[in-house]
Amino acid sequence: MENVDLHLHTTASDGSYTPQELVIEAAKRGLKTIAVTDHDTVAGIVPAMEQAKELDLEVIPGIEFTTYVDNQEVHILGYYIDHLDKTLSTKLAELKDARRTRGEKIVEKLNELGVKVQWQTVQEIAGAGAVGRPHIARALVEEGYVKEFSKAFDKYIGDDGPAYVPKTQLTPKEAIELIDEVGGIAVLAHPGLADNNEIVNEVIESGIEGLEVYYSKHTSDMIRKYVKLAKRYELLLTGGSDCHGPEHKGEVLLGTVKAADWLVTDLKEEYRAKNGINLIDFDKYLKLYPKTSGLYPEELQKIGKEYHQKGYLTKDELYNLAHLNSTRSSYHVKKNPAYRVKKVTEIVYQLDDEFSQLTLLVGLTGIGIPTASAILTSLNDTEHAVIDTRVWATLHQMGYFDVEKESFTADDYLRIMEIIRKLALETDLSTAKIGYALFAYDVEHREGTLH
Ligand SMILES: [Zn+2]
Ligand SMILES: [Zn+2]
Repeated sequence: MENVDLHLHTTASDGSYTPQELVIEAAKRGLKTIAVTDHDTVAGIVPAMEQAKELDLEVIPGIEFTTYVDNQEVHILGYYIDHLDKTLSTKLAELKDARRTRGEKIVEKLNELGVKVQWQTVQEIAGAGAVGRPHIARALVEEGYVKEFSKAFDKYIGDDGPAYVPKTQLTPKEAIELIDEVGGIAVLAHPGLADNNEIVNEVIESGIEGLEVYYSKHTSDMIRKYVKLAKRYELLLTGGSDCHGPEHKGEVLLGTVKAADWLVTDLKEEYRAKNGINLIDFDKYLKLYPKTSGLYPEELQKIGKEYHQKGYLTKDELYNLAHLNSTRSSYHVKKNPAYRVKKVTEIVYQLDDEFSQLTLLVGLTGIGIPTASAILTSLNDTEHAVIDTRVWATLHQMGYFDVEKESFTADDYLRIMEIIRKLALETDLSTAKIGYALFAYDVEHREGTLH
């Protein structure tokens, strides 16, 4: 099957689709796996994943680093990066700041040259994204200093232009190391664009793990050349269109480079091997769940329904699932009386996004993690599973987390839910079933009390 596109931009960098639009468009085109790879930012990943939740579409977290060898731009893609990692966000903030300073410097130089382009115009064009030369070029067109976009580069801001300011430069090796540090796979983007053997060799020596062989602007000769090279150095193959959306040169590239799904399988295997992740036998532990939880999922659903019929809550699934956990044992019933469950769920559902909901829940005192974890199990509109220390412990055993934990932050919950959703897509089991299996595995393998 060829339904993969692993190189896509959103409005988080210089694309014209919002992350949500990108996901919707990708699903419309029948894609099954996409990677959001914005330039030097991970801001589009969470919104894209949120949008993909209800669709049969996997979003791989990615990034495209702008690096330099001498004056030549070299783009390094990072896949399966831990986009919630603090080291990464700090580094990206530094780079963004350096770019902003650079943009301001370019505008300053232009002003000195008598081109009075306004910094505010540039910022408005860039929106939430980092300011780059294309934004300045568009401002120059908008304010009538040049007729065409390309003239802005020819006349002023190109590499030999009078208003040129060099970038704060990241080398390919630095980008590869950073990607490595956050558990990702580093891939050389579109090697055929520059088609510079020396640079490609240098990047390979720096520890690149894959080549973006299939690319919208690669000729069949280039594809053959880089497939051969990848084989020689035992590198992964990846592919993507580099779609920047409909407002970019008038054509939508999304889905036009139909990469095969085995590329994703290989990428995933490499990611797991690198991070020491071993999958458990989901079917086996799913069967064990009724025994380990003390209650059958169907019974839990029934109990929730009964309480809903008494009219406690407006949002039945939510109440259902919150109550499921609170009735799982006498411990929870005592700790979480129905009126409190009701109150909490009502407040939580006034908030729109998952992160705020999680933050509020985690911050609540006197409610207790059990209720929080019960509410958080809304993996989608119809399915619920318990997310608690047992689930974390199993994911820890599988290699996803370095430490065991007793209480979670909102970030932790997001991580758990993301992993569960990913595993569900891969195994064709529902998210709830993955949750049950993870829970059962820990009961079978760990001593301890079961709430
Ligand atoms: Zn690129
Ligand atoms: Zn790109």
